[in-house]
Amino acid sequence: MAKHIQMVDLQTQYAHIKEEIHTAIQQVLNSAHFINGPEVKQFAAELADYLGCKHVIPCANGTDALQIGMMALDLQAGDEVIVPVHTYVATAEAIALLKLTPVFVDVDPDDFTIDVNQIEALITPKTKLIVPVHLYGQCANMEAIMQIAEKHGLFVMEDTAQAIGADCFFADGSTQKAGTVGHIGTTSFFPSKNLGCFGDGGALITNDDELAKKIYMMANHGQSVKYKHDSIGCNSRLDTIQAAVLRVKLPHLDTYNAARNTAADYYDAKLSGIDGIQIPKRTSWSNHVFHQYTIRLTKGNRNEVQKILAEQGIPSMIYYPIPLHFQEAYRMERFGKGSFPVTEMLSEQVLSLPIHSEMNTEIQNEIIHALIKSTQ
Ligand SMILES: *Cc1c(COP(=O)(O)O)cnc(C)c1O
Repeated sequence: MAKHIQMVDLQTQYAHIKEEIHTAIQQVLNSAHFINGPEVKQFAAELADYLGCKHVIPCANGTDALQIGMMALDLQAGDEVIVPVHTYVATAEAIALLKLTPVFVDVDPDDFTIDVNQIEALITPKTKLIVPVHLYGQCANMEAIMQIAEKHGLFVMEDTAQAIGADCFFADGSTQKAGTVGHIGTTSFFPSKNLGCFGDGGALITNDDELAKKIYMMANHGQSVKYKHDSIGCNSRLDTIQAAVLRVKLPHLDTYNAARNTAADYYDAKLSGIDGIQIPKRTSWSNHVFHQYTIRLTKGNRNEVQKILAEQGIPSMIYYPIPLHFQEAYRMERFGKGSFPVTEMLSEQVLSLPIHSEMNTEIQNEIIHALIKSTQ
């Protein structure tokens, strides 16, 4: 019988850093400084340093980060926001909550990120913002997106919840960390993300001093100085204990992402060229931090394969089974079947295999063997 295989092995990761984690949490307990303790600022500074950006503003979760970012950009009801339709619901949810209009764009069938060739045709006088999503851990084509945004005077906010630590590559040979290229980047520290805490957490990233001030305000009741409220904001904080955990884990992020890459390379080597399986494409404009290792099962047997794997104790996930334009909450009259053919196809073909910082070839061989057998 298969050894217990998990999508993400957070227990083993924790076991390796247990002592440091306990010391860090104990310090917070001793100080009883549970909200806005010094660890929050320290973590923000350390993450900004790691990312090579000016400001990191922590908040309560990655969904809040998206909402706060849009509030800080002063977007008004009815403004249009261009967003990939193949993404986690949070990206579109923040847009809709603020009464902005999500304008969906299909994605590339091989790298799964927003199809940059379709963006310009969707720009109207109401368009204010593009929200690329660095899906599964690989960046959208930021160079192309920034060029379009500059040409049309649009803001760009990168949803970096799945790609913290990834690098964007530019034609001039320079690189920049995911989340630092657009006007704002947002991220999540949900436990299973590449940099996860022990509960909820998130952050906004920016190089713009004015925007950083607005973001701080919006995350803190629209307050400029204590008890002076200039805007309607929200209450969204990263707990001190979570910041303490993240301070321990941040120095390991590159190692964690490298381990994910090693596992992905191994999957690639064993799964490439197998009939009915398409391995994820690596783009020229980004490296990959493999938040997910997502294959396409091209023979129409995805659900059956998933079931066969599950029967053998091998978990897998479908990100995402129902495209946003078919969701009851985001159903718009003009989007019938066939509106976003790539996303609709992906919803029927994608399968994410177990991947995390603690993978080993023994586990992978078992997954690979079962997968290949189930697809033939
Ligand atoms: C996880 C995730 C979010 C939301 O993060 P939370 O911290 O769970 O609110 C947003 N966008 C994407 C692409 C995500 O994967």
